[in-house]
Amino acid sequence: MTDTYQELCERGRQSATLDSISALMGWDQETYMPAGGSAARAEQAAALAAIRHDMKTDPRVGELIEACESNGTMSDPDSPEAANVREFRRDYDLATKLPKDLVTELAKTAALGQEAWKSARADSDFDTFRPWLEKLVGLARRKAECYGAPKGGELYDALLNVYEPGATSAEIESAFVPLGKRLGDLVAELNESGTPPETEVLNAEIPADRQHEFGLFVLDAIGFDLRSGRLDVTTHPFCEGVAPGDTRLTTRYRDEHFTDALYGTMHEAGHGIYEQNLPKGQGHGPADCFGQPLGESISLGIHESQSRMWENFVGRSRAFWEWALPHAQKMLGDALAGVTPEQLYRAVNTARPSLIRVEADEVTYNLHILIRFEMERAIIGGDLEVGDIPAAWNEKYKHYLGVDVPDDRRGCLQDIHWSGGMMGYFPTYCLGNLYAAQLWESINEQIPDLDAQISRGEFGPLKDWLARNIHQHGRRYRAGELCQRLTGTPLGADPLLRHLEGKLRPIYGIA
Ligand code: ZN
Repeated sequence: MTDTYQELCERGRQSATLDSISALMGWDQETYMPAGGSAARAEQAAALAAIRHDMKTDPRVGELIEACESNGTMSDPDSPEAANVREFRRDYDLATKLPKDLVTELAKTAALGQEAWKSARADSDFDTFRPWLEKLVGLARRKAECYGAPKGGELYDALLNVYEPGATSAEIESAFVPLGKRLGDLVAELNESGTPPETEVLNAEIPADRQHEFGLFVLDAIGFDLRSGRLDVTTHPFCEGVAPGDTRLTTRYRDEHFTDALYGTMHEAGHGIYEQNLPKGQGHGPADCFGQPLGESISLGIHESQSRMWENFVGRSRAFWEWALPHAQKMLGDALAGVTPEQLYRAVNTARPSLIRVEADEVTYNLHILIRFEMERAIIGGDLEVGDIPAAWNEKYKHYLGVDVPDDRRGCLQDIHWSGGMMGYFPTYCLGNLYAAQLWESINEQIPDLDAQISRGEFGPLKDWLARNIHQHGRRYRAGELCQRLTGTPLGADPLLRHLEGKLRPIYGIA
């Protein structure tokens, strides 16, 4: 290993340390920061963003990368060093395309925009959020222009590429539109020809503290390490891999529909288990790659595949409830007395068009994403003005889901992403579902008794498979390449459709 390579890694480590401080501030803002702290937090975020930007764009980093590219560090293209230098190059090229004033303004506006969004959402008042959103869209567009559209692509692609390296609008459209069509047909088939499962069991009222206790129990059982993580409550559940040995999850509770919080927790735990098993030196991995691309997650699509797998493929299975229900009955009180695993399995597997993405079922969820993809693409492409967003949103909900949006709180103000300047992020949710389904088929081929293991509460073999085949590699492979290696085929929609049709048709009594 050369000195230049070591210096490059050392600089990566310094930069990642600042990233972890930024992540901690973001977590704090969403959990415990009093509203009065928001102006100061915006200043802190902007100041830190400026320092991080200076560090990431330091010409010395560029020199080190260039030296590594020519001094033989990359001579074995499959080596960890080659992967690191390749990905350091990608990060450096992206960072140096953005001017510092844009980076600091984005950080500051995002922090203030989030506070504006919170109150606008609470009051269901789009007009108070509108000036912030106009500003944020302007900044997102400027950011996309700095990155530049890829050859033959469009401006929105430049934003997609930040979250899902190499993704393009054209590819996503060609995957999502037919998927949306087939899922729309499935929803119609289930609701027109089938018998919806009984969901009465979900109306049981269970106090938040009991749900929290049960959530922690499930986290521990599936392999989220609570000594290196915690679970808090927020409006919008998330996972923040703050630093080695420190992964934070959040969820939210209401007395009815305890499975909403449970699945929110399992979802974020899927992200958390990924973070905890990246080889970034926290006692789980073979190497301390903190600050190197090999210690980081591949893409948001792959990240989401991990959360969706634990939430839907494990959590919404019959086997899961065979294991979980007796524990739930013990910990959640009398409300679940007499309930059978089969009843719960059926109740949590409905396909019913609804208004809120994060509470959507496994089928219609993808339609919520298709709507956001089309909206963002039009906004960044200049085909949709911010003032017209509520009307366009409501129209698409009618078109794709057949529902009337009663107010903006349950419409275009429901998601946090735009208020934080994150445009181009949503498509990764649907990509995650596609990756999860495809990986799930391969995992079941390799662990033939997986279902039986889950029914006994043995989650270790699944967790180990994911750690060994995905988490431990960090960014060694790009998402598409990893998918090809693990499943033998490029990403496609068929596994997800097979999974959903195969599960829901029998539940709805359709042969
Ligand atoms: Zn997620």
